[in-house]
Amino acid sequence: MIKEINTLLEELQPDTLKEKAKQLEDMLETEKLEALKLIEELSNIEESKEIQNKYFGKKGFVTKIMKYMGKMSNEDKPLLGKIIHDFKVEIENNLKNKVGHLESLAINEKLLAEKIDITLPGKGGKIGHKHPLTLVEEEIKEIFRRIGFTVAEGYEIEEDYFNFERLNIPKEHPAREMQDTFYLSEDIVLRTHTSPVQARIMDKMHPQLPVKIVAPGKVFRRDDDSTHSPMFHQIEGLLVDKNITFSDLKGILLYLVQAIFGKDRKIRLRPSYFPFTEPSAEVDVSCGNCNQEGCRMCSYTGWLEILGSGMVHPRVLEMAGYDPEEVTGFAFGLGIERIAMLKYGIDDIRLLYENDQRFLEQF
Ligand SMILES: [Zn+2]
Repeated sequence: MIKEINTLLEELQPDTLKEKAKQLEDMLETEKLEALKLIEELSNIEESKEIQNKYFGKKGFVTKIMKYMGKMSNEDKPLLGKIIHDFKVEIENNLKNKVGHLESLAINEKLLAEKIDITLPGKGGKIGHKHPLTLVEEEIKEIFRRIGFTVAEGYEIEEDYFNFERLNIPKEHPAREMQDTFYLSEDIVLRTHTSPVQARIMDKMHPQLPVKIVAPGKVFRRDDDSTHSPMFHQIEGLLVDKNITFSDLKGILLYLVQAIFGKDRKIRLRPSYFPFTEPSAEVDVSCGNCNQEGCRMCSYTGWLEILGSGMVHPRVLEMAGYDPEEVTGFAFGLGIERIAMLKYGIDDIRLLYENDQRFLEQF
């Protein structure tokens, strides 16, 4: 019937609708009955979409008729409008009701099919746990809290002034070469170590004593291989007070190493150089893998390098406003990745960043 209706509408002349109105109404009535019968017989929602498209889609019947409106005279427009309106509303309502009915049937069916046996044990969600780097960082912070250190935080985006100059590394100093980093501008860098926290915390505390902090966080360098990552984690320690000596530093380092690796481990200090400490020492821990017999892990030396340390350089104290004649201090910094790798026997630093669950779930 749709075809006939379209033909009739095609042939309509302006102002002739009245004569044809009765005929059009009859034809639409026939079409409507046919449509309602189809709707009645629908058995699923997919089929309902076909009917929806046939009448109300972009190229649907009703949509098309609306376009004829443009050709009508002002007098005929309301008449055609009324005839179409009744046709449209009845089909629309019936279709809507039928779809609603089909939907509730589908839901009921689904509910029945999915009836849950509540006597079965639950599956439970997978609960993650802390990353090995977080575990090591928290452990080290806790080790220092026990002896009265507080935790301080610094900035990952740092001024050149705090990252280098306040640590006695002026511009053009060769030590900058070893710590090449990412520059955001001439004077703003991604910090190359957690050491700028030393200067910032002393500025904040001065003239109070003691300054007794550990500062963990991310640092950035331009290295990338199996033992170096362009982003890694350090934890910095600083103690400034009256009468702090090198033996205090040695005692704290031994305490730290034994707390992390076990009471049977020893430390060895080797003279070294850092611009912001004087004297400076590299600290090694005795290899626990071979009991210092010599193995691949310790390159057959019996020792593993773990951190750098030293007495705070008088210039660094001075720049923070402390009198190096009255006040002394020590500082140390260790790589959290390095400790985690030694503690857990991890041979490639990149494993720590790949988020491979098979790796992570071992900790
Ligand atoms: Zn060894």
